Amino acid sequence: MKTVIPVPTPVLMRISGTTHTFPVRRVYGVGRNYAAHAIEMGHDPDREAPFFFQKNPDNLLPPTAGFPYPPLSTDVHHEVELVIALKRGGTDIPAGEALDCVYGYAVGIDFTRRDLQAEAKAAGKPWAAAKAFEHSAPCSAIVPAETIGHPGDGNIWLAVNGERRQQGDLNQMIWKVPEIIAELSRLFVLAPGDVIMTGTPSGVGPVLRGDTVTCGIDGVATLAVTIV
Ligand code: MN
Repeated sequence: MKTVIPVPTPVLMRISGTTHTFPVRRVYGVGRNYAAHAIEMGHDPDREAPFFFQKNPDNLLPPTAGFPYPPLSTDVHHEVELVIALKRGGTDIPAGEALDCVYGYAVGIDFTRRDLQAEAKAAGKPWAAAKAFEHSAPCSAIVPAETIGHPGDGNIWLAVNGERRQQGDLNQMIWKVPEIIAELSRLFVLAPGDVIMTGTPSGVGPVLRGDTVTCGIDGVATLAVTIV
C-alpha cells in the first residue's frame, strides 16, 4: 500500500559501544522528582503523586550536535536527568517487575523554556510549548542495563562552561525508577521504545548561546552540548 506522504524518519538513539540503535516510540518526563528542585521551584517537597509530561521523539538531539537556542524564549534552563529506555511495556506494571522492562539508561538534558512554563503555570495551561520544542532533549548514547545494572544511586551533575551548576544523587529521587514505570503504566500503555526522563536535581538555571553544557551520571554516561 502506498503512503500519501513520505513515512516519517524513525528516531534512533545510539547504543554505547556498538553500532546498534534504539528506535524511540514516545518520550515522557517526570515533574519535580527531587525535593531540592521542588523547593527551588517554589513547591512543597512532600511526596505527592508523580505527574508526567511528554516531549516528542524527534526532540531527542544526537549527543554530538549543538543545541539551537529556541525562539520565543529568553530564559531557557538546563535540567540534567537520568533517562530510562524501555525494551518492554504493558499496563499496570507492578513496581517489583518494572526493572525487567528496562533496556538501558542514558543521561539527558530536559531543556525548558522557563518563561513560557511560568506563564503556562500561572494561566493553568499545558506545558507543551515549554517542554516539547525542537531539539529540547539531547541525550547521550544508551548504556544497556545488562552492562551497568540498574543505578539506584550515583552522582548526577551538570556544569556550564566548566562551572558546576547542578549536583545531586540518584538516591534523592522522590519516585524511584521502578515506581516511575509502575505509575506511568497506570496512565498510559507503555511499549518497547518508550523513553522516560526522570526529573532533575536542584541548581537549574539559564543557558546562553555559546555556552558549553557538560553533564553526567557516575556509572552511566556523560554528555556535552554547545548552545548555538
Ligand atoms: Mn525535567
